[in-house]
Amino acid sequence: MPVVDVRLVDVVKKFGDAVAVDHIDLEVNDGEFFSLLGPSGCGKTTTLRMIGGFEEPTSGLIELQGRDVTWLPPYQRNVNTVFQSYALFPHLTIFENVAFGLRRKKVKDSEIKARVSEMLALVELPGYERRKPTQISGGQAQRVALARALINRPAVLLLDEPLGALDLKLRRQMQVELKRIQQEVGITFIYVTHDQEEAMTMSDRIAVMNKGRYEQLGDPESLYERPTTRFVAGFLGISNLLPGTVDSRGGQHAGIRLADDTVVRAPAALVEGRDRVAVGIRPEKIRLREETDPTPAGHNELFGVVKDASYLGVSTQYQVEARGGARLTVYEQNVQRATKSELWSAGEAVRLTWSPDHSFVVADQASHPSPGATDPTTPDQLEPEERS
Ligand code: ATP
Repeated sequence: MPVVDVRLVDVVKKFGDAVAVDHIDLEVNDGEFFSLLGPSGCGKTTTLRMIGGFEEPTSGLIELQGRDVTWLPPYQRNVNTVFQSYALFPHLTIFENVAFGLRRKKVKDSEIKARVSEMLALVELPGYERRKPTQISGGQAQRVALARALINRPAVLLLDEPLGALDLKLRRQMQVELKRIQQEVGITFIYVTHDQEEAMTMSDRIAVMNKGRYEQLGDPESLYERPTTRFVAGFLGISNLLPGTVDSRGGQHAGIRLADDTVVRAPAALVEGRDRVAVGIRPEKIRLREETDPTPAGHNELFGVVKDASYLGVSTQYQVEARGGARLTVYEQNVQRATKSELWSAGEAVRLTWSPDHSFVVADQASHPSPGATDPTTPDQLEPEERS
């Protein structure tokens, strides 16, 4: 059984009448890399600040390592925080910045020296001891901030968009580094981000937040392969959603009848207790074939016309209009021998096929309004870079 390091029980945070965090229950395990992922304003930072003690909950309970810390100030919690603005002391050397927490605890000099060296080695900055914060890059400053936070050996490290100020390439590099560091020190990390790729790269588990709650919690693969709400499906990558009615339930796969009377199948367990649903399918799970090619036995099929093809190098992205009017996005990997002439072009009639096991199911918006239902745009209608 995993040991629970951080527990939130029915936590609510209101600012005046506005509810920032809306009855959250959460358990983060010891040694876990756990992310709170969601769009701006969904309550992730507020949740993190309550764990850190920078904000008091309006109601609810917060436990760290089995101890109620709900009303304790930050310095009485065995927790440290790394912010996006890493706030190093500009007048102190890198050594003294990292040593800061130990100096305050009156740790003796020889131990400070050894521990600072150990930390700078961990973040791959040995030899930088005598520099000042103005003499290092943004990525290096973030590493120093990390070393400074870890030197006190907190039970839990809270990270609030720590890579937000870095350029994309450096971010990607630091994501791999952060994961390595977390595994090396074995400390529980709770990481706040609005970047789905970032959360998926590093996390053991992710809570996908929307409007003060989390809609789904799981490991990256299950969130991507089996999202249970429109919001989650749309926030973690592109998804095609086909509304329909459950038509048959017997056996391994359920049949879902779409508006144009086509029946597509999905794992039966996913439609339990539901009637009106939307069947989801990720763009890379769909195969495009000649209209006259046979569909592999047991696979779902739709017919449509290619409306647009965008050559992206590693893959080609197609927009296909199905006969019932639905627009689907399809990715096809460009294998070595593929030349532009072998790609599908606009106007071609195609058959779309996929395995029923690759279908997922979310509640249909009409019968189960999701929290975002009244918004003019839901995340699944947005391009990834627009979703933050
Ligand atoms: P972002 O990614 O933009 O930081 P977030 O998901 O971290 O967003 P929070 O910062 O937790 O969101 O904010 C949640 C909600 O609470 C927002 O509507 C925000 O405006 C509100 N809020 C946060 N802090 C305060 C405050 N001190 N006073 C009033 N409202 C606040």
